Amino acid sequence: MSDTSANSPILPGATLGVLGSGQLGRMFTIAARRLGYRVHVFSPDSDTPAGQVGDVERVAAYEDLDAVREFASAVNLVTFEFENVPSATSQAAAEMVPVRPAGSVLHITQQRLREKTFLAEHGVPVTPFRRIISLEDLQSAARDLGLPAMLKTASFGYDGKGQQRLTPQSDLVAAHAALRGAEGIFEAFVDFVREISVIAARSPDGSFQAFPVFENAHQNQILDVTVAPARIPDSVAAEAIRISREILEALNAVGLITVEMFLTRSHKILVNELAPRTHNSGHLTIDACVTCQFEQQLRAVCGLPLGSVDLRSPAAMANLLGDVWIEAGGTPDWAAALSDPSVKLHLYGKTEPRAGRKMGHLTATAATPEEAIQKVRAARARLVPSR
Ligand code: AMP
Repeated sequence: MSDTSANSPILPGATLGVLGSGQLGRMFTIAARRLGYRVHVFSPDSDTPAGQVGDVERVAAYEDLDAVREFASAVNLVTFEFENVPSATSQAAAEMVPVRPAGSVLHITQQRLREKTFLAEHGVPVTPFRRIISLEDLQSAARDLGLPAMLKTASFGYDGKGQQRLTPQSDLVAAHAALRGAEGIFEAFVDFVREISVIAARSPDGSFQAFPVFENAHQNQILDVTVAPARIPDSVAAEAIRISREILEALNAVGLITVEMFLTRSHKILVNELAPRTHNSGHLTIDACVTCQFEQQLRAVCGLPLGSVDLRSPAAMANLLGDVWIEAGGTPDWAAALSDPSVKLHLYGKTEPRAGRKMGHLTATAATPEEAIQKVRAARARLVPSR
């Protein structure tokens, strides 16, 4: 079915379908239920973070298109929390109800080469890149764009998965072999001073709203700490939001899009990647903004007026990976972390704490970004009792 009702809002009381069932789906579902919607969740897993809080948890493979159609026919709208679903899945859902963001947005953002090519064609600044199939492609990219560089698989990459950092000492034959025949993207290395993200919403009527720019610190290519507002000049923040708006408009996106960017030493912005959904760096919006990113996604996809993105106070978020449980030798000391009353705890309902697995996060609000970072890091450190 085509999205003919583009401007009639999907109002509270309606049922929303979410493809994917992780923590982003969980926090979306909590926001949606707060506003009086019902939520059905679709993924191959059971007892999932989102399924635990939704009205219905449908367990089926994304490739099971009959199950997808049946799922979509029981809801008023389908959205995502996980973008790596096959195009056929979103197409099957779109036969039944509006899918937002549309499958065309997913198609671009789920493959790094398509995404970077789209951005470059629309005049968005990105680091120079090349498509890699053969060893010769890799050797000539290294010659032309130089080393160090990043070699990534073009598809199914996130949190640094499928990424290799190449240096002049790297063995290009081994690096190529590690792609295991998959299509790769070679990216010139960006010597950045900051990583930032813009989470922006666009409605069916074209209204646009972006959260304040967030500043992100990574550990082992996984987001570790986010702080808001980013400690960058106002002119750079305005430019980051302007670029994001251009991207959402070029994509004709309806929903929430996250734009991850690098800020170079010379204050130049380069877009790293897009996510057609809410983002880990936006989790602090739950405790620090008038409208959180999950409610904003809901408002955008349902065609409700977008909410205020005002930051009530500076805030910082620290991820809790399974490593915290491992270091604590069992359950982390929640009471110790919460002994600071400005610290908030979010857990995702995952029972198995594995190294590198996102289990939850902490948020701290404070008078300054620096103080918020210090508080949230201190709270996280208190989770592991000192021996
Ligand atoms: P990604 O999966 O593309 O978001 O990459 C994960 C992290 O790897 C980024 O947040 C950066 O810290 C780092 N990274 C990715 N691409 C580059 C690049 N071209 N230059 C420098 N660092 C990068």
